[in-house]
Amino acid sequence: MEYQKLRDRMVENQLIPRGIKDPRVLDAMRRVPRHIFAGGHNLANAYDDMALPIGEGQTISQPYMVAIMTELLELKGTEKVLEIGTGSGYQGAVLGELAKDVYTIERIASLSDRAAAEYRTLGSDNIHVRTGDGTVGWPEEAPFDRIIITAASPQIPEPLMEQLAVNGILVIPVGSRYSQQLLKITKTANGFTEQYHTPCVFVPLIGKYGWEEE
Ligand code: SAH
Repeated sequence: MEYQKLRDRMVENQLIPRGIKDPRVLDAMRRVPRHIFAGGHNLANAYDDMALPIGEGQTISQPYMVAIMTELLELKGTEKVLEIGTGSGYQGAVLGELAKDVYTIERIASLSDRAAAEYRTLGSDNIHVRTGDGTVGWPEEAPFDRIIITAASPQIPEPLMEQLAVNGILVIPVGSRYSQQLLKITKTANGFTEQYHTPCVFVPLIGKYGWEEE
């Protein structure tokens, strides 16, 4: 199948040379059909080394960004994961391959509806989609072993810190509206440790604990 070739090439050319090592992450990205999530008009370049428009002014992240954020989460397969910013649903699908359960929140209903429909079609029944402001988290399902925010935030939304389990990991792009850096937070019994990673550019996280709508 043509798409399998494109995915293998994406992993070999974009992910491995940039240092993605976790074999489970590489395998998941060889499997998940990115072109399905990239949307009809993007089929030809769905596996290219870039973010792509998915409608509503939003984007599907570059494959490398999905890979590094996923690798930073150190998933073993037993975790309950919260994702903020479902977007196309692609990142969530990768998480669904690597964790036990994924809870993903998207503020734009047309996007969350489309992602939920793709998950139903693919039979990804461990992925749960909600429409709403993800900056307040998903309190009924907390605590989460892992939290990933795939939109740019001025700071870490307080409710998400609270909903992170002890020994849990949270990954978030923090910075200005136009440029950020990936931050990995590990919650310990007596506080938090933080580690900065690669610079990045995400669309803004808009909500009660994020940016105001422009
Ligand atoms: N993870 C996505 C990429 C998301 S782009 C993928 O794999 O395709 C960021 C998404 O975050 C956008 O769809 C945007 O609408 C959404 N978003 C922004 N603020 C949000 C909020 N407060 N709660 C939930 N989603 C939000």
